Amino acid sequence: MPAASNTTLNLYDLNRVEMRELLDGWGYSDYYAGLVWAGLYRDLATDPAAIQGLKPDLSARLARDSVPGILTVRSRIESEDGHTTKYLLGLRDDQAIETVLMYFRGRATVCVSTQVGCAMGCVFCATGQMGFRRHLSAGEIVAQVLHIARFLRARGEVLRNIVLMGMGEPLHNYDATMAAMETVMDHRGLAIAPRFITLSTVGVVPGIRRLTEERRPFRLAVSLHGATDAERLRLVPTARRWSLTELINACRDYSETLHRRVFFEWALIHGQNDSPEQAHALGRLLHGLDAHVNLIPLNPTQGYEGQPADLRAIRLFQSILAEYELPSTVRQRRGIDVAAGCGQLATTLAR
Ligand code: SAH
Ligand code: SF4
Repeated sequence: MPAASNTTLNLYDLNRVEMRELLDGWGYSDYYAGLVWAGLYRDLATDPAAIQGLKPDLSARLARDSVPGILTVRSRIESEDGHTTKYLLGLRDDQAIETVLMYFRGRATVCVSTQVGCAMGCVFCATGQMGFRRHLSAGEIVAQVLHIARFLRARGEVLRNIVLMGMGEPLHNYDATMAAMETVMDHRGLAIAPRFITLSTVGVVPGIRRLTEERRPFRLAVSLHGATDAERLRLVPTARRWSLTELINACRDYSETLHRRVFFEWALIHGQNDSPEQAHALGRLLHGLDAHVNLIPLNPTQGYEGQPADLRAIRLFQSILAEYELPSTVRQRRGIDVAAGCGQLATTLAR
């Protein structure tokens, strides 16, 4: 429960109960907490003090005792095909993050960051290459979703899909990420359904176990990139901490407990992880699991020399997975021209 009169208070950090407690502490009934909540998450107000129906003294208190949770747009770039818009959004401490609006099959999707940088160090990922700066707060994650929801509303569209695939590793910032998702799922606000939220993780096993225990029915996507420990380790150094056996067991438990299919991501890199042998190894690894594989031809980044797999290798890889009855999709390349593709997000490069 945040203290009243706290000038660092970001209302987006609060869940609905905390909002009620805050206003109660200030002497306002639940009715007003409901008004503020609806103002922020239904009307998408940018200034809490201007929310309709508040008493003037409550507006004044909100203006005095909370900081603006909205993020400042430092830059906005649109891809040539018009399907992707990348925002560089400024935080209060002068750090910045990237948030991407994408259209997939006509559906608006926001790609959200959970950290400034990332500590996991995947060699081919621009965010990994910039290193870890800090975690985002729940409110900073929520603010990205609101930013895109406002933009869409102005065009008469509704945001329904979230992918936690921006900068950072969501399960390394578990509590803030979960708190943010609870806020955006709240039925008195944005009401985004959990099945339209994809959480992509590099494979933080304790985090996957917690998702299972807490029964969080997101779409779970796990970035594999290698089907043996040795091969995976070359691309994903953090894999040292958990063996593939532990990871796949955690995925199986998630899938069986929540009756959810698990998605596996594989950045296809020419000569690194695109061979028929590796496809067979992946097929064997995922055998018996309710799984789907997303193949992502490598997107270029400054700090890595690898090249994307070629089309022939991709098709062969897919046909081998099919022998194991493993469905797979090649992810459409999106926003490459504005460096908003998977793994291309890095504020150092965007500035
Ligand atoms: N940290 C999480 C989510 C963010 S990365 C994770 O790693 O899953 C989102 C996806 O982009 C991951 O599957 C990641 O492996 C992939 N990716 C990273 N860099 C890439 C690159 N250069 N080309 C293609 N995919 C990449
Ligand atoms: Fe971090 Fe994901 Fe990039 Fe790996 S791929 S460095 S986990 S953001």
